[in-house]
Amino acid sequence: MSQEKTRLVIKSGNIFDSVNGILKENQTIIIQGKRILWCDEDDAFEKDLNDKIIDVNGKTIIPGMIDCHVHLENTAEPDYERKYLRTTKTMWHYYALQNAQKHLINGYTCIRDCGSLPEWGPSLRRIFDIGALAGPRILIANLPITQWGNQEEIGPVEVIEYYGKLSEVKAGIDGIRHAVRDRKRSGSDFIKTVTTGGVLHGITSKVDTSLFLNEELLAMTEEAHRLEMHVASHAHGREGIYKAVQANVDTIEHGTLIDEEIIDLMIKKQTFLIPTQAACFGISKPDILKQLPPEVATKIKQIQEQMISNHKIAFEKGVLFAIGTDAGTPGNPHGTTTNEIINMIENVGMTTSQALQAATIQGAKAIKMEEQIGSIEKDKLADLVVCNGNPIEEISILKDPKNLLYVIKDGKIMAKKGKITYFN
Ligand SMILES: [Zn+2]
Repeated sequence: MSQEKTRLVIKSGNIFDSVNGILKENQTIIIQGKRILWCDEDDAFEKDLNDKIIDVNGKTIIPGMIDCHVHLENTAEPDYERKYLRTTKTMWHYYALQNAQKHLINGYTCIRDCGSLPEWGPSLRRIFDIGALAGPRILIANLPITQWGNQEEIGPVEVIEYYGKLSEVKAGIDGIRHAVRDRKRSGSDFIKTVTTGGVLHGITSKVDTSLFLNEELLAMTEEAHRLEMHVASHAHGREGIYKAVQANVDTIEHGTLIDEEIIDLMIKKQTFLIPTQAACFGISKPDILKQLPPEVATKIKQIQEQMISNHKIAFEKGVLFAIGTDAGTPGNPHGTTTNEIINMIENVGMTTSQALQAATIQGAKAIKMEEQIGSIEKDKLADLVVCNGNPIEEISILKDPKNLLYVIKDGKIMAKKGKITYFN
């Protein structure tokens, strides 16, 4: 019997039904190949002679979780800029591999990389997709489409020229359309753009500056959607969030200075908010902040004061939320995404069940993959996590990978109790 025909049976566990936000007891899942062949009450399970059965009685099975915003090549160290100058570029590829596996062993079977060098992203995605190495499924943006002129470039002229050539986007509708097609050509799954400055983007980059014209943003989303890519926009300040939502981007990243008018528009357009509070808290840690350039402290103060209350209002009014960490930014290491689930419970007012939905089915919807992943249902890809105890009652269980007995992706057991066990 070939391995494809052997069924993997996860028997008699309690499943978190992410669509309805409830726990269903005594359920069995049959996996064949990459997909869920059958999933129902344990009593109705019919055994096949060659089944490989794992009894998970008393354990909880949750859908593989999704982090919608990471930067795999970034290591979360505060001296990352110096490291770029003192490390061979190939090292970043291996950091990306290591960081992706950190997400996997912590139960995150899908991650969306929101901007990186195109040299490694599509290759790493494929290595994981074909099962050559253990890793999560990755959605790749490659280089973001940035606001050209948002920041003064400081550094050795060779570095400025290198990044200039790599990331230049010509102004105007044609320039934007070309940039979108260029990302498609280099293997992007989606477009990452920025419609405001950023905290780490340099001295002159202001979090409330928005440079793109409305017509440019509309051209970007129109072209991306036509090429079956969604659009994620980094946006802190009001104007940049508003312009992005109005131009039909699919997800707003950060959304720190969101207001009621934008909230109403996001609800109307069903735009997702990926709050990435973990990034803000990571940078704010005193031992991290003191190692970063001085303007970062000023900017983080500007956004942090209002971030929590703004996100809370957005959630209470009905904006769609998904989990994303911005992992890789200083003080915000890969593999700690569950802290962001806890941020949503403590700071935004989600119930544990709602926060787990944000990390599963809502994440899948945000990245347009809800027909494939995000819930444990017949015909979906078999991405799931078997854990000790009941995370709905005690979410902190998920923080310790030793509690994750099996992390399964594409129907293959990839990790057990925090260790990779899959080797092709
Ligand atoms: Zn980011």
